[in-house]
Amino acid sequence: MTKKQYSEKKLEKFREVIITKMNSVATEVGSIQDGINTSKNPNGALSQDSIYSVHMADAGTDSHEREKSFLFMTREDKYYRNLTVALERIESKEFGTCVICGELIPEERMLEVPNANKCVACKTKDKLNSV
Ligand SMILES: [Zn+2]
Repeated sequence: MTKKQYSEKKLEKFREVIITKMNSVATEVGSIQDGINTSKNPNGALSQDSIYSVHMADAGTDSHEREKSFLFMTREDKYYRNLTVALERIESKEFGTCVICGELIPEERMLEVPNANKCVACKTKDKLNSV
């Protein structure tokens, strides 16, 4: 069984896409963190203080929003880690190769699930075996 691999050129393209995704996740998470910090510190900037007072009337919604942000960040954090794994696999040239059958995992799937290490066929088989 010979393992198939994406060409250097393709891997380079994937790397670019992944780094772009990582940057946008970092920016999004950063702006949400800013938002959470602001609502936790109502005595910060004067303008933020007045915004906070308005929100106080609707405290329930506010904590709900915060919870939503938290869930979002947990998900983004996981996604970010997946991207890191993908980047490591590009470095070690394992990226895009199914660990079970050694076939190439389709490009569309790698863009959707950058840390995938099994092709859909093997993943499906894997699932059936584990049930
Ligand atoms: Zn496979």
